[in-house]
Amino acid sequence: MEKVKAKKKYGQNFLKDTTVLDKIIQSMPNNNNYVVEIGPGLGDLTKNLVKYKDMTAYEVDTDLISILESKFAIEMKEDKLKLIHTDVLEAWDKQKTLHDDRYDMIANLPYYIATNIILRALEDDNCEHIIVMIQKEVAQKFTAYVNEKEFSSLGIISESLSIERRILFDVPPESFDPPPKVMSSILYIRKDMNKSIEKGFKDFLKACFMQPRKKLSKNLSSVVDKVFISKMYEELEINDNIRPHEVSSSLYSQMYTKVKNGRN
Ligand code: SAM
Repeated sequence: MEKVKAKKKYGQNFLKDTTVLDKIIQSMPNNNNYVVEIGPGLGDLTKNLVKYKDMTAYEVDTDLISILESKFAIEMKEDKLKLIHTDVLEAWDKQKTLHDDRYDMIANLPYYIATNIILRALEDDNCEHIIVMIQKEVAQKFTAYVNEKEFSSLGIISESLSIERRILFDVPPESFDPPPKVMSSILYIRKDMNKSIEKGFKDFLKACFMQPRKKLSKNLSSVVDKVFISKMYEELEINDNIRPHEVSSSLYSQMYTKVKNGRN
């Protein structure tokens, strides 16, 4: 095996534990979807994925591209694997989707941009399943429910856009080379392909969670005036002292509709 020095700036922690690799493969949905992997790295997960599905892998690191090209020469020649050398967030800026047909994203993500990648995948109309290794703390946010302390705009966005979301299992630092400083988890999201959310709603949530431990009314005062807030609380039977994480996704949606209509 070639010895490649992992680059911190690209969030490179290579997954070496074959039991974990097997468990990721076992959690692949049984469907005909294409697969997109972000950050194939040295290709350990890629090698397992490409046995089952045609796929595209997006990798930013030039040094890894040449390694991957020689490792997967046959699969690339047979069109089973397409390797794209780019920053995946730039790819999304240019083309809105990472693949022209329905796909599942399966990846061990670079943690420094994991939240952004998941948010983009949730918005990508062709992406149906998201099965990704990320920092445990971030996975907890995407799977949190109302009243849990981790409940934030990430939980509301993923709840609003999915049929199912959960943590499949945790992965300790020793499973990687080099080991990351944090505990990791595999996040599973099955999207509801009929749902979408407005950018305005996301901006509204951002304002509502600006100071997450303060009262919601304090955060809302940056969006609407106090009289509006009191009237809205009365109509929706919301307690004055409520904190941002104590409000359900559907109640946020009702509040947003009122704020939007109040502004028109
Ligand atoms: N899949 C490999 C594995 O499981 O061992 C590597 C995972 S490593 C945590 C993250 C990978 O994402 C690295 O290969 C890194 O170079 C790549 N990466 C980092 N930033 C990226 C970006 N903006 N676009 C595409 N790939 C990126």
